[in-house]
Amino acid sequence: MRHTNELILASNQGWDERILVCRNGRLVDVFIVITRRYVVLVDTVINPATAAQMVGYAQSYLHEGRQLLVVNTHADYDHCWGNGVFAGPDARWPAPILGSRRCADLIRHPEASGYLHERQEKEPAIFGDVVLVPPTLSFDGSLTIDGGDLTLELFPTPGHTEDHIAIYLPEINTLLAADAAELPFPFARTVEGLPVMRETLAQLAALNPATALYCHAPVTIGPQLLHDNVTYFDRVEQQCRAALKQGLPQDLDDIDDAVDVVALVDLPFEQATPTGPGWQDVDPFYRTTGHAQQIRMMLTWLASAAA
Ligand SMILES: [Zn+2]
Repeated sequence: MRHTNELILASNQGWDERILVCRNGRLVDVFIVITRRYVVLVDTVINPATAAQMVGYAQSYLHEGRQLLVVNTHADYDHCWGNGVFAGPDARWPAPILGSRRCADLIRHPEASGYLHERQEKEPAIFGDVVLVPPTLSFDGSLTIDGGDLTLELFPTPGHTEDHIAIYLPEINTLLAADAAELPFPFARTVEGLPVMRETLAQLAALNPATALYCHAPVTIGPQLLHDNVTYFDRVEQQCRAALKQGLPQDLDDIDDAVDVVALVDLPFEQATPTGPGWQDVDPFYRTTGHAQQIRMMLTWLASAAA
């Protein structure tokens, strides 16, 4: 993935005008929600430069007593590495940053600074001035922001990462799913995270939102993606169960990296996903390696559940 410091405003394709979608190259979409009381930045992109452009798009709404608020959906670099412009020594636009307690823990963790230093060495022009700043207001469970006209319900949606939260706006039946759902599918980081992530997907699909926006999917893909993600993992499970029944080695260590698990469970990517608009552009990584990783994870999970 080549990174860029550019952040453009996506044109509105029919969602509520109070939500702005900002796009950082092909990497990530982030959101600005304009309410009567607050202008809420949902995520801070990859660095101070991209976060500053978000503020630029928000600036014309920051009047009539509206306050700036920042939310982190989770601790991945493409969602919170711009936090430094809102809190800490380099804060040009001081504002509260809300996030789950787990998100704050992960940003404080030595692993996060290790990863930052790695990226800074490889891409100083992008990550050179990133400072890790955890949420300044962290919470467990859910949190409600009463914007006066719009309500933002922040609620836990673990799976992709354990700290993940999504946002639901009941007045306009709109879901900001962030990375809880993705095109073609969200990635669980751990085997234990896989069933949790599927539960989250089912919960989001059951919300039945009229509009759903994601951080890694086309803006036009709609709430159907939640169902497609559910179906994808159901199909993967089905095929993996069938393969295990036919006597696949129970010890997954026996299926080494060279084994083509896609052929083993007989589920090519195209048979697990729809073919509609948006799906043709899926990155080849997901069609091959990414898809195989999901199958491996599912096999491991099924084998450990059976043990
Ligand atoms: Zn992401």
